[in-house]
Amino acid sequence: MSDTQFDYIIVGAGTAGCLLANRLSANASKRVLLIEAGRRDDYHWVHIPVGYLYCIGNPRTDWLYNTAPQTGLNGRSLRYPRGKVLGGCSSINGMIYMRGQARDYNHWADLTGDERWRWDHCLPYFKLHEDHHGGSDAMHGAKGARSEVLLNDRTVYGETLRHHVAGGEWRVERQRLRWDVLDAFAKAAIQAGIPASDDFNRGDNEGVGYFEVNQKNGWRWNTPKAFVRPTCYARPNFELWTSAQVVKLLMTTDADGHAHCTGAQVWTGQGLVSVSAKQAVVLSAGSIGTPQILQLSGLGPADLLQQHGIEPVIDLPGVGANLQDHLQIRSVFKVQGVTTLNTLANSWWGKAKIGLEYLFKQSGPMSMAPSQLGAFTRSDPSQAYPNIQYHVQPLSLEAFGEPLHNFSAFTASVCNLNPTSRGTVSIQSPNFADAPHIAPNYLSTAQDRQVAADSLRVTRRIAAQPALAKYQPVEFKPGVQYQSDEDLARLAGDIATTIFHPVGTARMGRSDDPLAVVDTELRVRDGRGGVVRGLRVVDASVMPTITSGNTNSPTLMLAEKAAQWLAHEATQG
Ligand SMILES: Cc1cc2nc3c(=O)[nH]c(=O)nc-3n(C[C@H](O)[C@H](O)[C@H](O)COP(=O)(O)OP(=O)(O)OC[C@H]3O[C@@H](n4cnc5c(N)ncnc54)[C@H](O)[C@@H]3O)c2cc1C
Repeated sequence: MSDTQFDYIIVGAGTAGCLLANRLSANASKRVLLIEAGRRDDYHWVHIPVGYLYCIGNPRTDWLYNTAPQTGLNGRSLRYPRGKVLGGCSSINGMIYMRGQARDYNHWADLTGDERWRWDHCLPYFKLHEDHHGGSDAMHGAKGARSEVLLNDRTVYGETLRHHVAGGEWRVERQRLRWDVLDAFAKAAIQAGIPASDDFNRGDNEGVGYFEVNQKNGWRWNTPKAFVRPTCYARPNFELWTSAQVVKLLMTTDADGHAHCTGAQVWTGQGLVSVSAKQAVVLSAGSIGTPQILQLSGLGPADLLQQHGIEPVIDLPGVGANLQDHLQIRSVFKVQGVTTLNTLANSWWGKAKIGLEYLFKQSGPMSMAPSQLGAFTRSDPSQAYPNIQYHVQPLSLEAFGEPLHNFSAFTASVCNLNPTSRGTVSIQSPNFADAPHIAPNYLSTAQDRQVAADSLRVTRRIAAQPALAKYQPVEFKPGVQYQSDEDLARLAGDIATTIFHPVGTARMGRSDDPLAVVDTELRVRDGRGGVVRGLRVVDASVMPTITSGNTNSPTLMLAEKAAQWLAHEATQG
C-alpha cells in the first residue's frame, strides 16, 4: 500500500473487476488500483474444477451469505455463495460459458433506449476477449484473431489495446469427459422434441448438448489467470490490494453543485485508509457487494438509509431493488445399470480411479464442471422462446455441501430463465462487516409458479423417453404422487435452490425509470437528471433483466464495453 492516489480505483477483483484492471492499466499513463476483500487465488480447490464443491461454504473463498427465509420456498432460507477471493465468483463458479439469447440484449436496448445494448452491438465485445477452442468465426473470437471492435477503434483505447491482435484471453473449451447416463438424457431430450445443439452461444440457445467451459487443459480458467496475472503484474502503473474491504465511497459536492465520488475508504485489516481517484471509482463488487457499498455511502433508498442512521446523499430507490436470480428445481432420478458420480465416489476403488485420472491426464470427474449437459426449451408450447434451462448432472445430493447419495442417480435441474419475481438486497446496519439482508422473493408471482410446475412436467416427459428406459429411471424427487399445479409449485419450493445468478440490484435504465441506478454508460444517476461524477458501476448488478443462461460471460461483455467508455472518457480530459 505504497500510495493512495490513483487514476482509477476498481472495487472488487471478480469477473468484471479483473477484466477492467487489464483494460484500464493498458494505458501506462493511468495508475490503477484493484481492491479485493478476499485473499489471493493461491488455493488448490480454486483451480481443480471439481473444487467448486469445496469453495462453496468455505470462508477461504466464500462470503457465506444466506438468504432470508423465503415464503416461495416454504420458509426455507438458502445458502447464497459469492466468491470472496481474487477472481470473485469466477474462481468458484461452475465454469459454464454461456452468453444467453440475442433477445436478452435486444430487450435491454428496448428497455434502456440505447441501441448499443442490442445483441449485434454486444457480440463483438463477447468476441474481443474470447479464446474459443474452435477458432474464430462470425460468432466466436480466438487468440490471434483480429477484433472488429479494435480495428474500427481509432482512439487511444484502440491503440493501447493493440496487443489484442494476439489475444482473446478468455479460454473456452470442450469438456474432457462424458457420461453414458448424460448421453442417454440428451437422446431422450431429442426424442422429446428438443433439437441437438453443439453450440449454445450463437444467439439462440435452444437445444440439448454438452456445455462449453472456461477451462484450460483441465484446470479452471478464472479471470485473474486470464486478465491480471499475465499482464497487470508487470505493469508499474498497476497495484493490487487483497484482504482489503471497501467500507464506503468518499462523496463530495463540486462547486457547481454536482455530486462527485472522489475515492473510497478501505479497511485493510489493520485500519482504515482513504484512497482517491482522479478519473473514476468503478464499483465491481457484484450484485450483493455493490448495492451494499452504495447504501453504506448514502446512495440508496432514503428511508432505508435513515433507518440505519446514514445521511442520504442521493435518494436512489433502485439500489438493492430489482434482484433477479435463476432458481433451479432439482429433480432426482434413481437409475440402474449405469455409472454415476454417486457410485464412483462412494467406493475406495472409484475414488482412487478419479484421483489418478486427474493426476495423470487432468481429465475424469475432478476436471468436471458441476453441470455438464445442458438444454434450453419451452416450459409449455405456447412460450415464444426457450424459457427454461436444464443443468443435468451425473450425481445427486440433498443440498450443496451435503454428501452424494449412496445410490446411483442423476439430477435434472431446471430453471425459469426469465423469472418475474423481484427481490431486494438491503443493509441491516451501518457496519460494513455486517452481511446485507438478501430476499430474492423466489416464486412470488403466479407466472413463476406456473413455469415451475410446467417445467417439472417437461422433466418427467424427458425422463419417460425410450432412450433412458434401459436405466429404469425412478423419480426420487419430487415424487410422482404429485401431479397438480399447486402440488408441483409447492414441491418446487421444497427442492429448489439458487443457481447463483443474482443480477439487477443497480440496474441501468432510462432517465425516467424510477428504479434505474445507472445510465446506459453505467454512470450512477444523481437523482436530478444528471450523473454522479467519477463513479461507475460495472458488474452483474447493472443488468436490467437477467440473461437467458449463466451470467458470467454477459458480465465480462458489459465490462468490456464499459472499459472502452472509461478509456474514451479519460481522453476527453
Ligand atoms: C457457485 C457459483 C456457480 C456459478 N456458476 C456459473 C457458471 O457456471 N457459469 C456462469 O456463467 N456463471 C456462473 N455463476 C455466476 C457468475 O460467476 C457471476 O454472475 C459473475 O461472476 C458475477 O461477476 P461480478 O463481477 O458481478 O461479481 P463477482 O465475480 O462476485 O466479483 C465481485 C468481487 O468483489 C469483491 N467485493 C465485494 N464487496 C467488496 C468490498 N466491499 N470491498 C472489496 N471487494 C469486494 C468480492 O469479493 C468479489 O471478488 C456462478 C456463481 C456462483 C457463485
